[in-house]
Parts: sequence; C-alpha cells; structure tokens
Amino acid sequence: MEAALGIDVGGTNVRAAVIDVATGLVLAARRGPLAGRTPDQVVRAAVRAALEAVEAAGVRPVAAGAGFAGQIEGESGRVLSAPNLGWRDVALGDLLAAALGVPVRVVNDLNAAAWGEYRHGAARGARSALVVFAGTGVGAGVVLDGRLLSGARGVAGEIGHVKVEPPPGEPVRSCGCGARGCLEAYAGGAGISARLAGARAEGKAAGLSSPDDVERAALAGDPWASAFWESTAARLGRAVADAVTLLDPGTLVLGGGLLLGNPALLAAVERVVRAETSKTAMEGLSVRAAALGDDAGVVGAALLSVK
Ligand SMILES: [Zn+2]
Repeated sequence: MEAALGIDVGGTNVRAAVIDVATGLVLAARRGPLAGRTPDQVVRAAVRAALEAVEAAGVRPVAAGAGFAGQIEGESGRVLSAPNLGWRDVALGDLLAAALGVPVRVVNDLNAAAWGEYRHGAARGARSALVVFAGTGVGAGVVLDGRLLSGARGVAGEIGHVKVEPPPGEPVRSCGCGARGCLEAYAGGAGISARLAGARAEGKAAGLSSPDDVERAALAGDPWASAFWESTAARLGRAVADAVTLLDPGTLVLGGGLLLGNPALLAAVERVVRAETSKTAMEGLSVRAAALGDDAGVVGAALLSVK
C-alpha cells in the first residue's frame, strides 16, 4: 500500500493523517493544539501530530503535504503571507521537511480541501468542480479539466474577497484581509456575528448572536431572521453564481460548517445560485454537499504531495 501524510494547519489546532493514496481513506489521524502562532510552535505541533498519526497507521508515508491558510509561493513551500497567524515569508515546507525527513508540499488549505473533495469526496468522478467553503471565513478551490488552479500569485479561488454591496441599512464592513466590502465580511461566520452585534446595538436581532441563533429563529418563522438569511444568501449565492457562470465547472460543491450546519441558509444559497447562474452553465450543474468534513484538508494535502 502506498500511503501519504496530510497535514492541515488551522488557526488554533493542527490535524495530521496518513492517507491510503489509492482509495483516499484515512488510515490514522491525530489532532493537536497550537501552543502559539510562531513558525517554530506551529511546526512543532504539526510534527508531533504527524509522527503520532504515522505511528498509529503503522505505514511509512512516501510523501507529505500540508494545507495552510495563507498565500503560498508556487511549489516552493514558502508562505508569503498568512494574516491569521501574522506570518510573512516563512519557509514552512523546508522546516517541516527537515523535521519529518520527507519532502513536504505546502498548498493553500482550501485548495487542499477542494482537491480532497474532488478526488475522493463529493466531486469524485467529476472532470471539473468549484468547491466553496463557508465557515468562519469564505473560500473556494477550483479544479478545471482535472487541474487544480493556483493562479499567478497562488491565490486563485479567493471568493471570500470579491466585493459585495452591503445589505440596505448596513455599513461597508472591513475584512481581515485589510480591504473593505469583502463577501467574507458579510457571509463568513465571523462577519455574520459582527453584523448581528451591529443589529443588536440598533435594537434589532434581540437574542441573536451567532449563525446558529439565526438558523433556529428562521426555522421558527422569525421574519427578521429569515430576512437576514436572505440578505446573506443573496450575496454569497450571487458570488458563487458568478463564479459558476465564469468557470462552467459542471459540479458545484458547497461545504464548511456555516453552510452544512445551517440547512435554511444552505437552501437559500442554492436558490440564489440556481436563479442567477447563466442558463448554459446552470444546465446540468450538479450541486452537492461536501462529503469529507474535517478530512477534506488532510486527504487533499496528502494526495497533492504524490500527484
Ligand atoms: Zn477580504
């Protein structure tokens, strides 16, 4: 059996798994907390989780891949910038390779997760796929005609940073990327919570402070919550519809905790996508829910390392 190691570095923890390359199955997985955000602390946590996963799997991986939330320079393994962790120009691939004793390919975390869904998840068997994740933030990975798109600067698929109009009565919001008016600031989990805080300060949204609260209230028939979900879905759905129109992927995978945990929001987003995608790109578009959950990132990173 040929096995590869996948590592997924998140904002607060790191997950590592040994993957059967032929089937995409997770042979063993381990998760560990980040003690801090410095490269040294992150590498140490990643290596510990990785070595534990390798020991548990009982097979030696032939290669390793790491998904990382940041801008990665081509195949060099260098992280050019990672706003979440405050990194600039860190040779993450070299640091991990030195500690693990195998070459480590570093890719953007959502590109890794998209590749996992494409190869062994919801888009398995498809020729192309647009994979959109909405959780705390919003992002996407694009596989066209079998190729994972990275782009000239390595940031292809950053749908969370396309600009949207604020809902009527709401301010233009600042985004974690430093820009204003990004989709993620309205339709990511953190942005949604910030919008709710603003609404509560104006005497609206009483008792609603999280996406889960809005979902419960919308399902119970609360008109304000329903309108809030519609305004959120209108922006997220429009951006996704535009991307489908542009790329003609044939398969659209929707994932991430925000969408998969809130069926009323997911249904509203799907309605907008169906209504606003070009007729030709919409014809035959298969819309699917992401299937791999937390495993998508480690599966994709591992498989990209042997590609
Ligand atoms: Zn942004």
